[in-house]
Amino acid sequence: MKIKNWGRNLVFKPDQIIYPKTEQEIIQLVKKAGAANKKIRVIGTGHSWTPLVTTDDILVSMNNYQGIIEVDSISQTALVKAGTKLKLLGELLFKERLAMENLGDIDEQSIAGAISTGTHGTGIIFGTISTQIIEMSFINGKGEKITCSPKNNPAIFRAAQISLGALGIITEIRLRLVPAYNLKYEMRKGNLEETLNKLNIYKTENRNFEFYWFPHTMAVQLKFLNQVEEHPRNVGFAKTFNDVVVENGIFGLLSRISRAFPAFAPRISKICGAAISNNIFVNHSHLIFATKRLVKFYEMEYNIPAENFEAVIKEMVFSINANKYRVHFPVECRFVRGDDITISPANGRDSAYIAIHMYKGMEYERYFQAMEKIFRKYGGRPHYGKMNYFGKKDFEAAYPGWGEFMGIRQEMDPGGVFLNPYLRSILV
Ligand SMILES: Cc1cc2nc3c(=O)[nH]c(=O)nc-3n(C[C@H](O)[C@H](O)[C@H](O)COP(=O)(O)OP(=O)(O)OC[C@H]3O[C@@H](n4cnc5c(N)ncnc54)[C@H](O)[C@@H]3O)c2cc1C
Repeated sequence: MKIKNWGRNLVFKPDQIIYPKTEQEIIQLVKKAGAANKKIRVIGTGHSWTPLVTTDDILVSMNNYQGIIEVDSISQTALVKAGTKLKLLGELLFKERLAMENLGDIDEQSIAGAISTGTHGTGIIFGTISTQIIEMSFINGKGEKITCSPKNNPAIFRAAQISLGALGIITEIRLRLVPAYNLKYEMRKGNLEETLNKLNIYKTENRNFEFYWFPHTMAVQLKFLNQVEEHPRNVGFAKTFNDVVVENGIFGLLSRISRAFPAFAPRISKICGAAISNNIFVNHSHLIFATKRLVKFYEMEYNIPAENFEAVIKEMVFSINANKYRVHFPVECRFVRGDDITISPANGRDSAYIAIHMYKGMEYERYFQAMEKIFRKYGGRPHYGKMNYFGKKDFEAAYPGWGEFMGIRQEMDPGGVFLNPYLRSILV
């Protein structure tokens, strides 16, 4: 059976797909694969563009390994099965009157898949989702169960928090949670220059702030999220209309025009920028974070030190205008707190994340390569799940913990059960 990722840039045919239901099955599977010199890759929901999950050997899906194992409402923590999809997790936690403090902008991923590539949302007081883990367990390449936390095996814990599925199969994750809360989502049209001038105010005076800049224009869509006591409002027809018709239906149609006539891309970006509307929605946090992404695209995202953000954006504006790149998808800008996770892009620095996109089927390489040059110049580190041109030497130079991670990987999986050609090229 052929497997395709969400972005449809990866297609592969594993020899076997296995859906374990218990930890014991996973242990046996890893031991057997090791003895038979077979390779295993684990897939979450295939929402990464990089070839992390591709294999022609054994693919393990954790789709039958979902749910909450235990909840402690006093300490506000929960132990969850690693295959649990974020959407289900949000619903289950909400029933317990708990929630995750922050999320990215979709909820399709599995919790293990999300943390394994350093998935993040926005908000300067929040780290990546991996920083919400307080303990986790995985089955390493020798078939051993390893449980780690900041106190128990701390070096392994910091490596496992973002591990590209290279240390083993994650089975359980204990999360630090917060009481369930509601968020007010305010969407406004803005201007790039003014946004850069007010960036500090926007970042510090809102719980979660991000913006989208439309290339070839000065238009930005500002998105502010703040905790409120209000009840959900404007979330029925209004939200569905915005999500499905405006952000996906109309945008999808314009994207198809852009693909058929790439020279129109700048004009289409201008139309999208001009059409930004002001909207307010209030809902439970897990429902506000999640947006629908029905229009398929390719994406590259870089983490850069927060203090370099303005310089990077200015160079991007200059380069896109000077080279007339045919792009109509907006540039997404988010802000994340630094952490101490071994190979986290945000390791040791408060960060800005800048994501660029291209509609599926349109030429993207020239644009992505040019933007990557700018990101690299300012200390950029790529998001592991998104397209990038980094090789092993680049990772070693950009990530202070790369060598340490390679050592821990070797210790956890000496036989290379979890290596595919891509991981081998960057980790061995
Ligand atoms: C439309 C869209 C929107 C996105 N939005 C955001 C966003 O807002 N913020 C952001 O940071 N990223 C975002 N991403 C990227 C996405 O969050 C990451 O690529 C994420 O890793 C995908 O999760 P997944 O469950 O699909 O994992 P997969 O892509 O299937 O796998 C990712 C990695 O996790 C490993 N893995 C999965 N399960 C296990 C396990 N049980 N044990 C060990 N390893 C495992 C895999 O082997 C692989 O290395 C987005 C992607 C898409 C397509």
